[in-house]
Amino acid sequence: MSYKITVLPGDGIGQEIMVQALRFLKVVAEKFDVSFQLEEKQIGGTSYDLFGNPLTEDTLESCYASDAVLLGAVGGYKWESLEHHLKPEAALLKLRKSLDLYANIRPARVYKSFLEASSLKNEILDGTDFVVLRELTGGIYFGQPRGYDKNEGYNTMRYSRPEVERIARQAFEIAKTRGKRVTSVDKANVLEVSQFWREVGKEVHKDYPEIELNHMYVDNTAMQIVRNPRQFDVMLTSNLFGDILSDIAGMITGSLGMLPSASIGEKYALYEPVHGSAPDIAGQNKANPIAMIASVAMMFEYSFQMSHAAKLIDEAIERTLKKGLRTVDIQQQGMKLVSTVEMTDAIINQFEEVANEQAVGMFLL
Ligand code: NAD
Repeated sequence: MSYKITVLPGDGIGQEIMVQALRFLKVVAEKFDVSFQLEEKQIGGTSYDLFGNPLTEDTLESCYASDAVLLGAVGGYKWESLEHHLKPEAALLKLRKSLDLYANIRPARVYKSFLEASSLKNEILDGTDFVVLRELTGGIYFGQPRGYDKNEGYNTMRYSRPEVERIARQAFEIAKTRGKRVTSVDKANVLEVSQFWREVGKEVHKDYPEIELNHMYVDNTAMQIVRNPRQFDVMLTSNLFGDILSDIAGMITGSLGMLPSASIGEKYALYEPVHGSAPDIAGQNKANPIAMIASVAMMFEYSFQMSHAAKLIDEAIERTLKKGLRTVDIQQQGMKLVSTVEMTDAIINQFEEVANEQAVGMFLL
């Protein structure tokens, strides 16, 4: 198999962590019968400096012609005073919209060796493994009418049937490959748009009798994430509710430097860490590469149906953390402080080790 990937390092630490992600692609290509055709393009401030435009047609064309897009991060102090449409962040929004990436997936999975670092108690957190599936291109962020004047401000939360159907279907499809449970989040006790969301979800569910579906109000969901996060498998949310809940879910399980994400549409898919370009530590070989490497794992799982490779990467990250290696953002007493490159070296070593163990295991079977 051969896959074409557009590589967009972006700005700040985006460039450093992307170098590490590409090392991983090489290792995976060597281990599995797969090849990657990489096309590197510019986005964000780096693109603005070169072309006067944070997202060129050339970059977009490359994304349209790819099986997946890998993105580092964009932004930085240098570009903060640019006009809104020229800012690095505007490029990211335009890219997501152009590729019609309507489904955002953020896993909330706890690395065992990282349990101590969470704000929750071990016994509540241990075993947590769910994904937040957030609708990304509709809802109150895009609904019309919107505006404000001296006397009032208003936004409109609206969803069309196709918008809810496609995200609900995506949730059930993901649940099929996991724990077979979907929790659909809404505020149906007060919002009509949520009643509609719930009804359409139930209709789509008829095609997935093997999946368990339950409905939960958003306020209760926020509470349940910190009370008993193990109860969730796939959490299906609208744009606004998902924005808030995915941050809660992310932070109970790790630091910003460890959170990957996938944004998926009918035709295209983009994988990126949740964090930004971290200009405060850029260029210092300090950035945690785990969010980026875990985003590569998500690409294997969701775009290339290589969940075995994704699992190997996750296991390699888990073992590396267990050995006590920590980058500056997740530093703990008694642990070894390492650089971006050292952390990646260690994860690659662990990856080789796990892959070899599995090969021996298969042989013995
Ligand atoms: P940020 O995520 O870049 O950084 C927040 C804090 O977390 C900083 O102290 C940073 O050093 C630390 N951090 C983040 N990722 C890390 C990593 N991998 N390893 C170690 N430490 C890490 O958020 P910010 O400071 O609010 O924003 C900086 C720039 O990034 C802004 O221009 C912002 O608009 C942009 N941004 C981009 C994206 C994106 O590209 N998807 C997302 C958020 C922010």
